Amino acid sequence: MEPTIFERIINREIPATIEYEDHEIIAIRDVAPIAPVHILIISKRVIPSVNALSAEDSALVGRIQLVARDLAKKYSIDKSGYRIVTNCNDDAGQTVSHLHFHLLGGSPLGRMSTQDGPTRFGIVKESVILLLCAIGLATGFNAMNSKSITWVKKEYERVVASPGDLDKYITDTQPTTPLDTAAERVSKPIVPTVITENTKPPTTPVFVAEPGVVREITYAQFKQLLASSPYYLIDARGADKYALGHIGKATNFYGGEIQSRIPELLASAPRDRVILIYCDGGECELSHHVADVLKQFQYGPIFIFTGGWAEWEKNR
Ligand code: 5GP
Repeated sequence: MEPTIFERIINREIPATIEYEDHEIIAIRDVAPIAPVHILIISKRVIPSVNALSAEDSALVGRIQLVARDLAKKYSIDKSGYRIVTNCNDDAGQTVSHLHFHLLGGSPLGRMSTQDGPTRFGIVKESVILLLCAIGLATGFNAMNSKSITWVKKEYERVVASPGDLDKYITDTQPTTPLDTAAERVSKPIVPTVITENTKPPTTPVFVAEPGVVREITYAQFKQLLASSPYYLIDARGADKYALGHIGKATNFYGGEIQSRIPELLASAPRDRVILIYCDGGECELSHHVADVLKQFQYGPIFIFTGGWAEWEKNR
């Protein structure tokens, strides 16, 4: 059977920020947090869900709760409040079949019940109906339009690259070493290259890792990087648009579904190259979705070409 994503994290095949670990439990930061504090407390032994627990697991589940409590204290949310939840099967939205509990906190999480009687229930019911109508309309719109409505709009920090930000990545020659194997790329620690007086003159190719750095670039800067820096290029548009045409040897990782392709992305993207991403152009939501995941896994520098496919086509 395929190892679960959490087994791969436990086996150090995929990086994660580990908050706690012992012989039977690991706690990691969630890659797509829905609260300021969002930690997953995971049983190391693969138990698909609460349904598969047996009486022998009582102590394990009890210890998971204690680990969650201690992490809540560590993050100073023990007094303000927090929630510990586990999802079981489809109706609860379980996506990883490997027992884990979410520790959520750091801001008000909202109530989970409507205990104030029928009036309140009525309001909730009407709100749900309105919400379903909106979702229905949006789904219809998305089905008929290639540029779909984003379900949850995340605000990204937008930093525009200055010429100085690019200088060190623009070199005269392409890298001499071939790409590492996918496995090596995943496990390889990020070691920023140190330039000392004796080693490299300023114009020779050199990669300086800048983990977590995401910057937006213009068409001219994008062309410069394509022409002279060792890079890995990602097309963040949908597969249909990619199939109709894309830039150079771009690899397609659709930004709208990137959460489900994280292992593939990590196996494909090298850590010793500048990462370039583009989508349709404009707001660059799709590119930012991909960049955000790479950023969390300490890739960088990452450059988003904001003109995207539209500007590329215009200048061809
Ligand atoms: P579930 O939906 O099964 O209750 O929760 C699974 C959680 O695992 C989700 O919140 C999701 O964001 C998180 N997740 C999925 N893949 C990864 C990953 O590769 N790394 C980390 N840290 N969290 C992940």
